[in-house]
Amino acid sequence: MTSTNQTSATNPGHAPSWYAHSANDKRVRESLKGEHTADVCVIGAGFTGISAALQLAENGFKVIVVEGERIGFGASGRNGGQIVNGYSRDLEVITRRYGPDKAAKLGAMSLEGGNIIRERTAKYGIQCDLVDGGFFAAFTDKQVREMAHVKANWEKHGHTGLEMVSKAEVGKYVKSDRYVGGMIDRIGGHIHPLNLVLGEAAAFESLGGKVFEKSRVTGLEMGANPVVRTAEGSVRAKYVLVCGNAYLGTMLPKITDKMMPVSSQVMATEQLDPDMIEELLPANYCVEDANYVLDYYRRTADNRLLYGGGIGYGGQDPANLTGVIRPNMLKTFPQLANAKIEFAWSGNFALTLTRIPHIGKLADNVYFSHGDSGHGVTTTHLLGKILGEAVTGHAERFDVWASLPAFPFPGGKTFRVPLTVLGAWWYGLRDKLGV
Ligand SMILES: Cc1cc2nc3c(=O)[nH]c(=O)nc-3n(C[C@H](O)[C@H](O)[C@H](O)COP(=O)(O)OP(=O)(O)OC[C@H]3O[C@@H](n4cnc5c(N)ncnc54)[C@H](O)[C@@H]3O)c2cc1C
Repeated sequence: MTSTNQTSATNPGHAPSWYAHSANDKRVRESLKGEHTADVCVIGAGFTGISAALQLAENGFKVIVVEGERIGFGASGRNGGQIVNGYSRDLEVITRRYGPDKAAKLGAMSLEGGNIIRERTAKYGIQCDLVDGGFFAAFTDKQVREMAHVKANWEKHGHTGLEMVSKAEVGKYVKSDRYVGGMIDRIGGHIHPLNLVLGEAAAFESLGGKVFEKSRVTGLEMGANPVVRTAEGSVRAKYVLVCGNAYLGTMLPKITDKMMPVSSQVMATEQLDPDMIEELLPANYCVEDANYVLDYYRRTADNRLLYGGGIGYGGQDPANLTGVIRPNMLKTFPQLANAKIEFAWSGNFALTLTRIPHIGKLADNVYFSHGDSGHGVTTTHLLGKILGEAVTGHAERFDVWASLPAFPFPGGKTFRVPLTVLGAWWYGLRDKLGV
C-alpha cells in the first residue's frame, strides 16, 4: 500500500494516489528555462488555473501556465472526484450575509461549474469516467430536515435536480444501515479528477497554450508588465493569474493570510468483485454524509471503493492515513472487513474564514482566486472561467465575487490553527451528539 510521504511509483511527482496510478497521460512537461513572454501567465495547474487558461486560449490569448510540480499535483488531482453543486456555504447563509441581490447573482452561477465540466468533457472528448448523480446521506432526522430546507432554498434559485430520500429508499443509493434518509442531486456526479484536469490541459495545449511543469514560482514582480520568476526562467506578461491555492506557501502573505491549508485523506480499496461494489452503491452515485467533518465515497470505474474523510488543519497529515479513514469505512460498510487498501493519500484544500472563495486583485493586472473550502470541483471551474472573463474585459461576475469580504484567520500565525481546531471540535461534537 502507498502512503503520504511517497510519490507515485508509476507516475513520479504526483501523490501516491490511485488517480496518479491510473492517469491517462503520464508525460512530464518541460520546465521553464530562459525568458518568455505571454498575454497571460497563470501560476498553478489545478482546476482553477487550467480552467482560466482554457477559457483564455479559447478566446485567442497567448497563455503560459507555470506549475511547481505536475499538472493536477494539488487538490485537483487528489480529491474525492465528487461533482457537488453550489458552494461551501448554503445560499440561505449567503443571502443572510451578503443580501438578496448578491445571493441572486451567486445563485444564478451556482450550477455553472458542473455544466462547464460536462461541456468541456463533451467538447474535447475528455475521458474522465464522468457519472451523473450524488447522494447526501443523513444520520439524524435533524439533518434530514436541514436538507429539506436547503432543497427548498435551492429550488428558489432554479435547481430542479434535488429529491428527498426516505429511510426505506436509502438502499437504492447506498447499502448501509447508518443513514435515516437523505437527498439526491441528479446533476451532481463524479469524475476521475486527475484525468479531467489532464484532459483540460491537453485541450488548452491543443489551442496553442503552454504548460511548464516542475517550475515553482519564487517571485512575482508587479508593474505594467508583471514578471513571474522561477529558479531558471521567467515569464513577462500583461496579466498574471495566481491560482496556487493551498500550495502557494507564504509567497504572497497579503492573500495567504486569509486562507488556511487543510488536509483531507483518501484511500482506495483493491478492485472488488463487480457484484459486491454494485451491491454497496447500486445507483453508482457518489455519497457524502451531512456531518461537519464528513465522509465522502464512491465507486471507481475499475470497481474500487474510493473513501475519503478526516481533516488536518494547517495541512498536517496524520502519521497513519488509513488509521483515520478505514475505521469510518468499516462503520459504513462492515462487509469490507477483508478488503485490502491499495492506495492511501492526502491532499490540501484552502479554507477561508467565511468558507466562501476569496477572489480579487493584487494589482490592476494581477488577479487571484482560492479558498473553495473543501467543495471546489465545480466552483474552481466556474471561478477559473470568471478570472478568464475578467482579463477579456468582462469583469461583471468577477466584481460580484471580489466584493465579498475576506478576513485573516484570528490568532495570527501561532493560534490560527488551534482556534480553528477548537471550532471544528465543537461542530464535530454536535454531530456526535446529534444536536
Ligand atoms: C483530499 C481532498 C478531497 C476533496 N474532495 C473534493 C470533492 O470530492 N469534491 C469537491 O468539490 N471538492 C473536493 N475537494 C476540494 C477541491 O479538490 C479543491 O477545491 C480544488 O481542486 C482546488 O483547485 P485549485 O486549482 O484551486 O488548487 P490546486 O488543485 O491545489 O492547484 C494549485 C496548483 O498550484 C501549484 N502551485 C502552488 N504554488 C505554486 C508556485 N509558487 N509556483 C508554481 N505552482 C504553484 C500547485 O503545485 C498546484 O498544482 C477536495 C480536496 C482535497 C484536498
